[in-house]
Amino acid sequence: MIDPFGRHISYLRVSVTDRCDFRCVYCMAEDMTFLPKSEVLSLEELERLCSAFVRRGVKKLRMTGGEPLVRKNVMSLFRGLGRHLETGALEELTLTTNGSQLGKYAKELAAIGVKRVNVSIDTLDKEKFREITRWGDLDQVMRGLDAAQDAGLQIKINAVALRGVNDTEFDNMIRWSHGRGMDLTFIEVMPMGEIGGEARLDQYLPLSLLRSEIGRSFTLTESAHRTGGPARYFDVAETGGRLGFITPLTHNFCESCNRVRLTCTGTLYMCLGQEDAADLRAPLRASESDELLDRAISEAIARKPKGHDFIIDRRHTAPAVRRHMSVTGG
Ligand code: SAM
Repeated sequence: MIDPFGRHISYLRVSVTDRCDFRCVYCMAEDMTFLPKSEVLSLEELERLCSAFVRRGVKKLRMTGGEPLVRKNVMSLFRGLGRHLETGALEELTLTTNGSQLGKYAKELAAIGVKRVNVSIDTLDKEKFREITRWGDLDQVMRGLDAAQDAGLQIKINAVALRGVNDTEFDNMIRWSHGRGMDLTFIEVMPMGEIGGEARLDQYLPLSLLRSEIGRSFTLTESAHRTGGPARYFDVAETGGRLGFITPLTHNFCESCNRVRLTCTGTLYMCLGQEDAADLRAPLRASESDELLDRAISEAIARKPKGHDFIIDRRHTAPAVRRHMSVTGG
């Protein structure tokens, strides 16, 4: 699949549920209304959709959400998709998780062929963790990390940089994650979904600032390492580890975008930061053959926009897109 700007689309991110067992302050309102179950695709339908994308040339599948591991019976989806790893049609099956359920599932994920997981942790302070996630328990997440490493899974920690919240902890987080053999990536907070008031402006911390601050304690050298995602990596001389930055606001990375995103209702978003979307649920359900679905996928890819235009400043306090990150998956 090639879009109008010549970009090869080889990476599909799938939000398998919009539900989550955490309520991170920058991601969701505390009283979120979730989709009625009747609107959500069954796991079999999700598998069929993902398989259609694999047949069309997608090499990397990432399950996300909401929290992918809270969806009932989600392992059956991973098992089904794992078949594509065995045939070689798919190069990577992975997930982004808050880690709360890794204690339960890490072994099985590894057995299915998952090699790497991204785990979102914004702070190493238990109290602060509770404040950011509202409902999360850092000890449980840490047990999840232990289980994942015991199972042989490689871990990348994702941390959203939040001004006044975790901005005193960055050095510590680098030492901790690299000390455990895990990569670490910092993410700029993105203006997605209503979270109340002017909260987003208060939270926003440009990573260009963060990078120069980190540079006072560590020596960063630009790295050629790529994972097929939007992060740019640096080697850290003092720890021997790798540090990534995802900077949708200060640096537009759209020119190399190889991704599209599927929601749990079968809506395909061709860009995280734009409203245009294609409904794949209707063609999926209309016929047992994939002909209609294939046509809808082709039409959607032909409309992939050049890029997003996130802005956070005093004149733009409304979200750039109305939907929350949990809909399209982070
Ligand atoms: N529940 C899983 C998790 O916690 O990783 C997967 C879904 S979560 C929406 C994926 C990632 O998006 C997390 O790392 C989260 O911190 C990030 N995220 C959510 N809302 C965001 C926002 N407005 N700006 C930047 N990152 C955001």
